Amino acid sequence: MGGVASPLTILHVDMDAFYAAVEVLDHPELRGKPVIVGGPAKSRGVVSSCTYEARAFGVKAAMPSAQAARLCPQAVFMPGRMERYVEVSRAVMGIFRSFTPLVEPLSLDEAFLDVAGTERLFGDGPAVGRKVKERIRGELGLVASVGVSYVKYLAKLASDLRKPDGFVVLRPEDVPVILPPLPITRLWGVGPKTAAQLEKLGLRTIGDVREAGEDWLVKRLGDFGAHIARLSRGEDVRRVETGRESKSIGAERTFERDLATLAAMEGELLAIAEDVGARLRDDGSSARTLQLKVRFRDFRTITRSRTLERPTDITRELYDVARGLLRDKAGVRGARVRLLGITGQNLVPAGAGQGTLFGEKERAKERRLDRVIDALRQKMGDDAVVRARTREGR
Ligand SMILES: [Mg+2]
Repeated sequence: MGGVASPLTILHVDMDAFYAAVEVLDHPELRGKPVIVGGPAKSRGVVSSCTYEARAFGVKAAMPSAQAARLCPQAVFMPGRMERYVEVSRAVMGIFRSFTPLVEPLSLDEAFLDVAGTERLFGDGPAVGRKVKERIRGELGLVASVGVSYVKYLAKLASDLRKPDGFVVLRPEDVPVILPPLPITRLWGVGPKTAAQLEKLGLRTIGDVREAGEDWLVKRLGDFGAHIARLSRGEDVRRVETGRESKSIGAERTFERDLATLAAMEGELLAIAEDVGARLRDDGSSARTLQLKVRFRDFRTITRSRTLERPTDITRELYDVARGLLRDKAGVRGARVRLLGITGQNLVPAGAGQGTLFGEKERAKERRLDRVIDALRQKMGDDAVVRARTREGR
């Protein structure tokens, strides 16, 4: 890739220690202290986010809180305030969108920006990167790391190279210098498990992958070999995509006979939640907002929605929220209902957001159940599997 064909227009911006940084911002007495956002140590909670002062003690996101408390007894534990993080996230994304409409959020605190065509207004990619950092600091009092390059993979890699408060520009001529010494886990799609497999083939660094060559890799790893060969050369054809947020995934059912009891409606609602959950999981998306649709006997149609603290693709959570809306907001008691629907809106990539907050054990259990049911539905058809409606037996 030559310089002219590879303008530096792709930015990856990632807030540093986002949840913890917001807590420090709102509680200035915590500045300079090891701060951990997450479940309390006694509750078998996990670390969701932590300041760099806590990281100095070896504390990391997703670590059990009890272990974090042992490593850093003086740490200040803060419960998460997802609503506040969502609010700050909106301000961060607003700053991004003031530079370009081509913003692809990956989570609350992280996004790709494509600034091609905005040079006359704001300067080139590196100049925009500097401005974004300055405005986040000046307007929000927070710190972001920025990577600038000519493809998404390299921009994301760059934002992570000098965290916190990083600013790294990766040009085509930097690729053969910067990439080879990096471990293979820096290749997009290579987690610890894959890395262990690759190490058996003698591949430890990106340099090893470059030297192995594409033919050798494809012979052993198929398409995945081609994928990592391309990444090792700094090639990535993915574009910055903004479409996710306007997309929605939903399902609805019209009944042969109008439903007259809450129990009957909730039974149907669970089946619909099952459909929507399966589609979200199939799409790799989680819904931040859930909309319930109700059509009454006289064709009057209403929608009621709720925005969740945490996006979800878990059937049980979709059902619980939809049922809450049905019971409390839809005015269905004593009415006859001919259609029910659930739509997931404001979709984000599944697993977006940092670490985890509360009830993760419970969520993991629900995820396992969803996977089992998804597999059964694929084998036996959508209506083959019906789960028990409520835990509390109502
Ligand atoms: Mg971050």
